[in-house]
Amino acid sequence: MTESSTAPVPLPTRAAAYHRPARLEQALELLAAGPRTVLAGGTDLYPAAAGRPVRLEFLDVTAIEELRGIRVDGDAVTVGATTTWTELARAPLPPAFRALQAAARQVGAVQIQNAGTVAGNVCNASPAADGVPPMLVLDAEVVLRSARGERVLPLAGFLLGNRRTARQADELVTALRFPALPARTRSAFLKLGHRSSLVISIVMVAAAVETGGDGAVRRAAVAVGACSPVALRLPALERKLVGRRAGPDLAALAAPEDLAALTPIDDLRGTAAYRREAALVLVRRCLTEVLS
Ligand SMILES: Cc1cc2nc3c(=O)[nH]c(=O)nc-3n(C[C@H](O)[C@H](O)[C@H](O)COP(=O)(O)OP(=O)(O)OC[C@H]3O[C@@H](n4cnc5c(N)ncnc54)[C@H](O)[C@@H]3O)c2cc1C
Repeated sequence: MTESSTAPVPLPTRAAAYHRPARLEQALELLAAGPRTVLAGGTDLYPAAAGRPVRLEFLDVTAIEELRGIRVDGDAVTVGATTTWTELARAPLPPAFRALQAAARQVGAVQIQNAGTVAGNVCNASPAADGVPPMLVLDAEVVLRSARGERVLPLAGFLLGNRRTARQADELVTALRFPALPARTRSAFLKLGHRSSLVISIVMVAAAVETGGDGAVRRAAVAVGACSPVALRLPALERKLVGRRAGPDLAALAAPEDLAALTPIDDLRGTAAYRREAALVLVRRCLTEVLS
């Protein structure tokens, strides 16, 4: 409507409301009382709502102190839901977290990293969510709370599909939890986009490898994102790597058949065939980095 127009502004069918509780219990009570849209940094929600009247009841969770911050217990790490990418990138974390911290520095650009949260990335469940592959190779768990209690799901079980998660309407993600990984675990993350920042991934890959004192690979985890509705681990490749002597030459073991479960699509960013080829190149580069 222009300023000079006298036409009445259509009222939303349901009035918008905005809640910003300071305590987790208040937030859970609000969620139990009726459907609310959880709002964290708003960097996924607001662009998705652009150009339309806001008819949602927002539950802004950014004032809840319990959801903030990173806790390191030995090598186990708990990342509060509203931890921003900037906070994650700057945190003193074990070497296994290099991949996740590299991803944090490549989400959007600085302004997005200052507002966007780890839980927002996971709950939005985009196939191109950069945080997901590094979290998958670290065996991340999603901690969910509701007025009914708490449950913990492996990230791979929480993400059900493109924009689909196992979260119930009355649940809040309170944290991402990472089990202790041995100090000899190294990880890396590589993202392919049309430019170096503010770009949706065409493909991204994360790898984490633990070597023993004898130099052999004890645990290997590789995940590929933006090539399937949900980022996928590559178990066949992981099995091939375990037990072998670590070295950059192992990267050549990655073969097209190891990526057979990927189902990339053609879109304006790249063709399925290009994505498949790029994924293999990134997997090999990522492994070279962690095995060198
Ligand atoms: C310009 C721009 C560039 C971007 N670039 C990238 C990029 O390079 N890589 C990338 O992965 N993403 C990118 N994004 C997307 C976005 O920034 C990230 O996904 C970010 O982590 C979302 O976090 P948020 O706190 O802003 O989520 P919000 O927008 O607040 O919420 C996202 C979804 O998660 C739900 N939600 C949030 N917190 C919780 C919670 N605690 N419990 C339950 N549900 C919750 C919300 O209801 C909503 O459905 C970009 C976005 C913009 C606008």
